This record gives sequence, C-alpha cells and structure tokens, in this order.
Amino acid sequence: MATMNEFERRRRERRMRERRRKKRIRAAIILTAFVCAVILIVILVMSRCSSNKPAETVQLGGDGTSETTLSPQNEATPAPTPTANPMTIPPASENNDLMDIIEDSGQEKRCYLTFDDGPTENITPQILDTLRRYNVKATFFEIGSLIQTNPSMARRVYEEGHLIANHSDGHNYAKLYVSTDTFMNEVNECYEAIKDITGEAEPFKLVRFPGGGFNSSADSYSPVKQECKDALAEYGFYYCDWNALNGDAEGKTKDADELLDYLIDSAEGQDNLVVLMHDAASKQATADALGSIIEYLRGEGYTFHRLDDIEYQSSSVGTGLDDEYTDSDYDEDTDMSGDEDEGSTPAPRRTTSPAPSSGSSGGSSGPIIIQ
Ligand SMILES: [Zn+2]
Repeated sequence: MATMNEFERRRRERRMRERRRKKRIRAAIILTAFVCAVILIVILVMSRCSSNKPAETVQLGGDGTSETTLSPQNEATPAPTPTANPMTIPPASENNDLMDIIEDSGQEKRCYLTFDDGPTENITPQILDTLRRYNVKATFFEIGSLIQTNPSMARRVYEEGHLIANHSDGHNYAKLYVSTDTFMNEVNECYEAIKDITGEAEPFKLVRFPGGGFNSSADSYSPVKQECKDALAEYGFYYCDWNALNGDAEGKTKDADELLDYLIDSAEGQDNLVVLMHDAASKQATADALGSIIEYLRGEGYTFHRLDDIEYQSSSVGTGLDDEYTDSDYDEDTDMSGDEDEGSTPAPRRTTSPAPSSGSSGGSSGPIIIQ
C-alpha cells in the first residue's frame, strides 16, 4: 500500500513539474512575442520619421563655369520660411508674385518703401538717416556687385533693421536676360553677397527684376522674364514689382517737390502700396524728397513695413486682378548697362504674370549646380 501511495505521489509531482515547465514555456513565448512587437513598432516609427526628411540633393549638368547654391523647392522640400517674420503667405511654389499676394492679403493701409540699385556711398546714408529719423523700416533691392563694392553700407542697411533683397548681380539687361540660367546665376551671386553681409543662412528669398517683371509687349526681355518667374518659383524665390512710385527714373529729372507730386498721383486710391524709388548715385532728389513722402503717406494713414512683413488673411490668391492691366503699363527700372529707358509710364500698373509651374525651367541645362 505504501508503495502504491509513494508511486501516486511521485506521479503527481511529475505532473506538477510538467505543468510548471509548460507555464514557463508559455510565459517565455508571450514575453518573446511582446518584445518582437515592441521592436516592430520602433522600426515602423523610425521608418516614418526618415521618410519625412528632405530628399537627397540633386546635381544637374553644367559646364562648371559658375557655381550656385540655390536649393530647389520640390515635393520633398518645405516652402521657404522668411527669416524676419514667419508669414502665412502662400509658398513661392504656389504663387511667387509678392505684389499679387500683398494685394490679396486683406491687410489695410500698409506701405512698403523700396529702394533699388544700391548700396551707394552718397545716397544710401542719406536715405538711412531719414528712415531712422521717422522710425520707418524699408526694403532695399541691392545689386550684388555693389554690395561687394560697398560692404559697410550694405551692412549698415541690415544693422538698422531694413530688409536687403535681391536685384541681380550686375543689373545689365543684355547679360542678365539671355536665359533663365544667366538670370538665376546672377540671382545666386547676389544672394550669396546678401548671405555674407547679413550672416543669415537663408535670407528671405525675394527678387525684383531689373526693369520690373511686368509682362509687356514693349519689353523685349518680357518672354525671358516670364520664364525666369518659373525658375524663381522652383528655387523658392518670390519676386515683387510695384504699384506706386516717385518717378525718379521716369522721363526728365525731377526735383524733390515733383517726386512728391508724382508719388501722390501714383498712390491715389490704393490700400496697399509698394513704392518704387532708387538708391542710385545720381538720385539726390530721391533722398531729398523721402522725408516729405513719409510724412504725406503717414498723414494718409499708412504704416510702413518691410516686404517680409505681410499680414496675410486671404485664402485665395490671384483673383482676376490681372485683367485690369494692359501692355502699355510697363514701367522701367535703371539698366546699368547704359541701355536707354524703355518708355515712361505715368501710371503705376501691374500686368499679367503667368502662374509659376514647377520644374519647367531654370536648370535643365547650363551651369547651375543644385545643392
Ligand atoms: Zn534697378
């Protein structure tokens, strides 16, 4: 009997040991499955993060005569972010006509004073002194080669809180508007000069076409300019023309009073003003008239801002405004090549610009190296 009981006890113990062993195996299996699941989740999360990174840089063919550092804006790269103000305006890839964006912004009574063709030794300091006296910030569309000639003056423009924007490297129409490649190379040269002066890694990408970007049959460079707008969009640049001016590059030379009168006429009835003036060596009258122009516009209720300071409220851009304008509205700027002015325009008007299409031009050939 004792033997039978002993046998039964040992059998129960074996069963219990077997059950415990199976339990440990099940626990091990469950633990292993849990660890595998955690690893899988981590891998999935990491792969998603890496897929959101910008695409690899691309290098396009070229003859190597010139190097640029422009970054293309494509599906994988985010829209450019202005340095001074995180705007909510449409990205340049959608609409890079800043004049269009300003007019559609919904903001009221804002004035953007702009000075083209500097920096200069004699006029820039006078303009800066006046802007400081009235506590006004403005935008200077500077020429890259002149930034290098007058770096201290460009630096002063920046240090006094004004926006330095891009007005090509040489401002010579015949060289600049040969093709989108020649244009974009000059834009890049100027952009590099602005980077050097400001120390900013990515200054606000804003260009003003020498001579304006207006689409006009009176402008022989107009077809190339329209293609350049697409190239600018591809590289994340806005461009900006004007809708008011003091007339300092129009027709006969004017004194300060005449410049003020011209400005008053051109600004009439407009809610947002982008005012064209020139910071060129011969434009003493522009410096002389600036104080009275600021006082007049301030009296009319305008506030003054840089072109990277836009209170954008609208969700729609380019709502048929272009239909109002005609070819005869073309306005000229100053060509440093010495070409004659291409006609004067008493009324500042804008003309149609085609919507930029991504990837259509600006680097399929030529010396642009995309980084
Ligand atoms: Zn110019």
